[in-house]
Amino acid sequence: MGYSTGVRTSVTPARRSAEIRAALGRLLGPDAVGPPTASYLTDATEHRGVKGSADAVALPASTQEVASAVAWCYEHGVAIVPRGGGTGFAAGAVPDGGVVVSLERMTRVRAFDPLLWRICVEAGLSTGEVRRLARENGLLFPPDPGAAEQSQIGGNIATNAGGPHAFKYGATGAWVTGLEAVVPPGEIIELGGAIRKDVAGYDLKGLLIGSEGTLGVITAAWLKLLPAPEATLPVVGFFAGAEAGCRAIEGVLGAGLAVAALEYLDAGALAAAGATFPGGIPAEAAFMVLGEADGSKAEAEGLQRELVEALGVDALDVRAPEPRHEVEELWRWRDGVSIAVEGRRGGKVSEDIVVPLDRLREAVEETTAIGERHRLEACSWGHAGDGNLHSTFLVAPDDGAQLERARAAAEELFELAVRLGGSISGEHGIGWLKRGQLCRQWAPRALELHDAVKRAFDPKGLLNPGKKAAAI
Ligand SMILES: Cc1cc2nc3c(=O)[nH]c(=O)nc-3n(C[C@H](O)[C@H](O)[C@H](O)COP(=O)(O)OP(=O)(O)OC[C@H]3O[C@@H](n4cnc5c(N)ncnc54)[C@H](O)[C@@H]3O)c2cc1C
Repeated sequence: MGYSTGVRTSVTPARRSAEIRAALGRLLGPDAVGPPTASYLTDATEHRGVKGSADAVALPASTQEVASAVAWCYEHGVAIVPRGGGTGFAAGAVPDGGVVVSLERMTRVRAFDPLLWRICVEAGLSTGEVRRLARENGLLFPPDPGAAEQSQIGGNIATNAGGPHAFKYGATGAWVTGLEAVVPPGEIIELGGAIRKDVAGYDLKGLLIGSEGTLGVITAAWLKLLPAPEATLPVVGFFAGAEAGCRAIEGVLGAGLAVAALEYLDAGALAAAGATFPGGIPAEAAFMVLGEADGSKAEAEGLQRELVEALGVDALDVRAPEPRHEVEELWRWRDGVSIAVEGRRGGKVSEDIVVPLDRLREAVEETTAIGERHRLEACSWGHAGDGNLHSTFLVAPDDGAQLERARAAAEELFELAVRLGGSISGEHGIGWLKRGQLCRQWAPRALELHDAVKRAFDPKGLLNPGKKAAAI
């Protein structure tokens, strides 16, 4: 990681950083600008050894302040790194010099119309808070990425985050009807709003969704909500292996069961997280499928029964918890799978490839085989219905040789995803770690268009430089 901030190259880096902080401090107030503390230099990839550097951290409290900071940076050739909750798995928010613009002070709810199923929030509000507000008013904000208490709506939009319930409800972008953003050279734009349809102009809102801070700083969003389903009833099936488990997953779709979530864990993920599964797992279980039925109470109960039947065909055991506390306990456990897997060796290199559903079994089995070829323990789990795997290689974080082998294993994994007709990233994005990998799956002309979009928004290349880059 290394590029120039462009400010007075004749002075020492420390002096230049101090000048940047002083100038931004005059614009935003001294309390809103400081030197970067360690937590702003990493994200959820810290255990992979990714750590950045920055000249300053700016904490704007309003869209106008974001615009002032971006305008100053743009004029002075200083990089701008938008930051949400820092839970990203692609090092997208890890700075490589320049100014970290953290949205953490922008947490206002600007408008909330429960009777019209919509809310407008500032980008720094946590995902968990948006979901809570909706729930307390009988509504549902469906996107449920795993680190909801830390991640921010702005970060979710910038990564187009998914989660278990994306299977039925779609990823974050599907719930965004309007965006306010600051784009170079420091202008505020509004795209869409409290409207549920909008086909005027090219889909600039769509370009900002999933842009990983490389096209603009998202400052607020209008979000659609839904009446909350009356009941959510999960079903868990345990299987002897990936073949039976993946057959069951296809069986759920084949039977026409419109479940809300359809998740899986392979043998390695069960070995890491199974010990804490509520009620324990069968000794011979080497694959688990977790589905959830939702709807009115009658609908959910009917669907749950059908799900038990569909998963039961080849299962070692099928369970259908119903009491509220058991359902909550199950999802809390599911949220902890990533951390349990990491805990096995202290570190992990975890990717988020996506493949067509009928290639899921191959991708699961190949993940283990790739690990074996690189002498690494490997496992996968993820959003089975979406064909989205968290293919993971376990490492001891201070073992450089293991980390190196895990990186090589990840390269093979990306090749596999593309060979199976999939993509190198289903939900975490490209960030810094997967920069340059897009050429594996896109034609040269598509890559040119990708770069042209970046140049159109950010001609000086100062917004989150190096991230989501099609080529390096
Ligand atoms: C335990 C755990 C479980 C997870 N589970 C899931 C999951 O199920 N599904 C999933 O998709 N992800 C998951 N993630 C990854 C992560 O939570 C998501 O990518 C999330 O959307 C990141 O949000 P954040 O606010 O933390 O963003 P950050 O990590 O701060 O930033 C991510 C990217 O977005 C950009 N960005 C952030 N805020 C803004 C803004 N306001 N304007 C413009 N750009 C911005 C940053 O520059 C960076 O490129 C998980 C992470 C953890 C640690």
